[in-house]
Amino acid sequence: MAASKNKYSLPVLLYHRIINKQSIIGKHKIYVWEKDFEKQMKYLKDNGYQTITFYDLQQNPNMDLNKKVVITFDDGYLDNYELMFPVLKKYDFKAVIYLVTQLDHNAWGVKEGEPRVNMMSAEQVKQMSDYGVEMGGHTQHHVNLLQHDTTKQLQEIRGSKEDTEKITGKTAISFAYPFGGINEEIKKITQQAGFTYAVSTNTGPKEFGADLFQIRRIEITPKTTLMSFKNKVSGQYFYPSFIKSLFSSKQTK
Ligand SMILES: [Zn+2]
Repeated sequence: MAASKNKYSLPVLLYHRIINKQSIIGKHKIYVWEKDFEKQMKYLKDNGYQTITFYDLQQNPNMDLNKKVVITFDDGYLDNYELMFPVLKKYDFKAVIYLVTQLDHNAWGVKEGEPRVNMMSAEQVKQMSDYGVEMGGHTQHHVNLLQHDTTKQLQEIRGSKEDTEKITGKTAISFAYPFGGINEEIKKITQQAGFTYAVSTNTGPKEFGADLFQIRRIEITPKTTLMSFKNKVSGQYFYPSFIKSLFSSKQTK
């Protein structure tokens, strides 16, 4: 169907923590329950989706993006290794993790009243990288880049790239802006620092590929039901009018 092709955009999902204990819920709700994550990955597997990384896109820029998903995790929490990685391996899936490279816990979150959560160790990062999880930069100290001058911005962005590469032994090609803090200058500096792709939170063009330094992501939260997840990975999440028209045409038949 030509019409649906025009209305498709590669889904890039945004996760933070995967948890299995009530006690570590923070007020910002940046977690997904382990059992929900498992159901979501099962849905993708059962429905013929393939998970890809930015490395895959770089190597094969003309690949068919239909039924592909990019799964990203911000910050590099220890639970990504302990709870998420086993699920990923079970389904033979890939993901991208954006590392805060100079902090051993979420110091920026603790300041705002979040529970303290540890980050992965370098060994754990290396192990996941060797498996095929892409590691990208997320600054060295989880700073809001909008609040810093050019020198500090470049230092934080480039620093996280170098730190990541030291651990993985691979070139880090993608970056995530902490707090979604982004402007045109920050995008240029990210490019200058040597990245090829950069992801935002909920800003940027709806169509994947229209701006590779402000790739819009779709957040998965503890409130995301499986029904809502299906919509989020459909490739048509940003085109609700198109989806509505599909439903209404079905109903009239
Ligand atoms: Zn973050």
